[in-house]
Amino acid sequence: MKAAVVDSVGGGFALQDVDIAEPLGREVLVEVRASGLCHTDLTVATHAFADFPTPVVLGHEMAGVVGGLGPEARAFAVGDHVVGCLVQWCGSCPACVDGRAYQCGRPGTTLRDPVRDAPRLSRAGRPVTQGMGLGGFAQHALVHENQLTAVPRRLPFAPAALLGCGVLTGAGSVLNGARVRAGETVAVIGAGGVGLNAVGAARIAGASRIVAIDVRDAKLRRARAFGATDVVNSATTDAVTAVRELTGGGVRHAFDVVGVAATTEQALRMTALGGGVYVVGLAGSGGDLKLSLPRLLLEQKSIQGLIMGSGNPRRDIPRYADLYLQGRLDLDALVSRQIALGEIDTGYASLRDPEVARVVITSF
Ligand SMILES: [Zn+2]
Ligand SMILES: [Zn+2]
Repeated sequence: MKAAVVDSVGGGFALQDVDIAEPLGREVLVEVRASGLCHTDLTVATHAFADFPTPVVLGHEMAGVVGGLGPEARAFAVGDHVVGCLVQWCGSCPACVDGRAYQCGRPGTTLRDPVRDAPRLSRAGRPVTQGMGLGGFAQHALVHENQLTAVPRRLPFAPAALLGCGVLTGAGSVLNGARVRAGETVAVIGAGGVGLNAVGAARIAGASRIVAIDVRDAKLRRARAFGATDVVNSATTDAVTAVRELTGGGVRHAFDVVGVAATTEQALRMTALGGGVYVVGLAGSGGDLKLSLPRLLLEQKSIQGLIMGSGNPRRDIPRYADLYLQGRLDLDALVSRQIALGEIDTGYASLRDPEVARVVITSF
């Protein structure tokens, strides 16, 4: 099959022939129909990480059709439409049993045993790393059934692909992580793909004020379309002062989707007494936060890191799919461009354009 392979860190994505194994155990062979370009894959492709030795097939925002099943796979039938998710959960550890799949203690159970089993992907007889148990930048992906969720067949593949990462993270941070309630006030720093989903979910939750903050006017215009009641361009306006003025002293919940120390500090300062700050994104290494303990105590604030929107994929992905089909969660406006599998490098380059929200591969 064809796959976009990263052969060396920083060397880009090259279309190549890669061998994919037959499904074992609970594995599912997915015919990939859409694969989103998430920034995390670009970070992995351009920086050395021990978990991702090259050559590697990345791509973790994928949707497709079940084409084959391992002998112990029970969750799907051939022909089902599925969405992939990088959350690797076993289903039986204490965290999984408690409904916290995103904190699974045994995520490795979704992968092949590197000693006992042949690799899922190989090229000329040598193993090729499969990114995050998915490897969606390819015509097919061999995935443990727990990393897949069935979705309605009438859901188009391009928006469906976004459900597993950008939507799960942005919407889940608001609905699961912060549990925003009707009438509460929200600020979202960073109006990219994840931030827009946080804004959209805050609207669904009934937040009274939703302030989007970014340095690009084009992104702020889009945030308004997704439900922001107010926007602040932090390149020209002091975001903390603006948010405090707009909300009469600060918001109840501030989401830092950018993830550098400066934006997390802004989030802490723009929350009201007793407010919550949620670190949802991480830009590069992120940096260290300097916290004033007296202020933290006196202002009664909380700060929490959230991974994948505290998402339980089998519960949340169908929920977001339904909200999309009802017209209450906009995903179509996120799909700015559709490209072919061989165009990933130019696809990532186009994400620097603030008019482009998300790029999705739909031609394999
Ligand atoms: Zn992602
Ligand atoms: Zn588990």
